Amino acid sequence: MAKVMKCTVCNSTEISKSQVKEKIPVGQDLVLVPIEVLMCQSCGERFYDRPTMRHLEQIEDDLAAHKRPLKEVGKILELA
Ligand SMILES: [Zn+2]
Repeated sequence: MAKVMKCTVCNSTEISKSQVKEKIPVGQDLVLVPIEVLMCQSCGERFYDRPTMRHLEQIEDDLAAHKRPLKEVGKILELA
């Protein structure tokens, strides 16, 4: 039997897969990476399992090596 997963932040058991956009910093830029993660539906805390972590690490490596096609969707601005 699968044990019930509890949110480590708010103790809710309302945890399910959600489509999110993970922000990965590359130099001064941020790259949005759409992935599916387990997310607490109560407080929004995200939980990363090992395959998800590995997937993100792979994408980070690819981004650092400029192996992934990217499109510009906005700017990152800083208060002057
Ligand atoms: Zn929670």
